[in-house]
Amino acid sequence: MKRFKKMMGLFLVLLMVVSLIPQMEAKAASKVKIVYKKKTTSYARKKTHIYLNGKKKAITKTPTFMKQGCYVGPASTIYKAAGMGVVYKDVGHKTLTLTRGNHEVVMTNGSVKAMVDGAEVIWDTAPIYAKYKSSGKKRWIVPIKDVSLALGMNYKVVKNAVQVSAGNPVIAPSSTSKVILVLDAGHGGTDSGASGNGNLEKTMTLRIVTEAKKYFDKDTRFQVYYTRTGDQTLTLENRYTLANNVNADIFISVHINSYKSTSTGTETLYSKDRNTITQKGNISSLELATAMQQGACAATGFENRGLVNRPKLYVLKYTNMPACLIEYGFISNRTECISMNANMPNYGRALYQSVVDFMKVKGRIK
Ligand SMILES: [Zn+2]
Repeated sequence: MKRFKKMMGLFLVLLMVVSLIPQMEAKAASKVKIVYKKKTTSYARKKTHIYLNGKKKAITKTPTFMKQGCYVGPASTIYKAAGMGVVYKDVGHKTLTLTRGNHEVVMTNGSVKAMVDGAEVIWDTAPIYAKYKSSGKKRWIVPIKDVSLALGMNYKVVKNAVQVSAGNPVIAPSSTSKVILVLDAGHGGTDSGASGNGNLEKTMTLRIVTEAKKYFDKDTRFQVYYTRTGDQTLTLENRYTLANNVNADIFISVHINSYKSTSTGTETLYSKDRNTITQKGNISSLELATAMQQGACAATGFENRGLVNRPKLYVLKYTNMPACLIEYGFISNRTECISMNANMPNYGRALYQSVVDFMKVKGRIK
């Protein structure tokens, strides 16, 4: 009996060792080396794919892994993915701000303290801007569950694979609520924009917006936010961030063109790429741009240069809503410059009326 027990014990030990071998192999393969502040750390539970909005995506060079009990992964890959509705703002790899609808998460490189909707929270693991050693890729590596839930998204882990989906759409006002519009007078402050024929673009754009404001001020169907109503200096980020933060229905930027003294005409820029962004009221950037171009052209009486696809313009690229940028005429053309200065009130009224007519067509107002 004693001998039997001994043999049985030996057998069990052997069995355990044999059964551990494949696990040990798997463990070695599932490690990932991360370089942060010149220090290399090895982490377990590496997973080279992720599910984003139900779609499997390979992330061989920037896998997810387990860090201090949290699954972490590349923020840009996850939150910039199509349909997530997240605005991604990296400031010098020091802070990362993600905005989605009325949710905002501000992370600091290497800190477990984060700001969620303006309140401080402490996470189990710090978001880091670090390098994947084997691929050399540098990424913001963030706790996926904390960030996703803070942004009102769905998070799940199935067989070690992280699944993130947008879930509920960002909070949008009902069709009976006011139309939220962001009106952006181009340039301002130290940035004069174009100049020509004794005029500055920043002054002309503000005049058009100021004229439009007189009408919007009296119309309770609209809630209008102005990026500036004076001569302030603003970054492009300031402009689209305002629009995203107030969850605007539409964004309209006002500019004056400049090229040759012989250049003529009115044109409206938009982004073809973002044409299908119709989270609110089923409006596309193309439709908005078309309506605004029509109104602006009628007001200026200049040549109709039509619509121009400019997907890389920040205010058209990073705005979450249909957006367009109107170039009324050429400051470099003396005739157009004089005509524009003489007709600012008309341009402002036309802008207002174009928005009203467009929103009626779209059924957003009566
Ligand atoms: Zn401009």
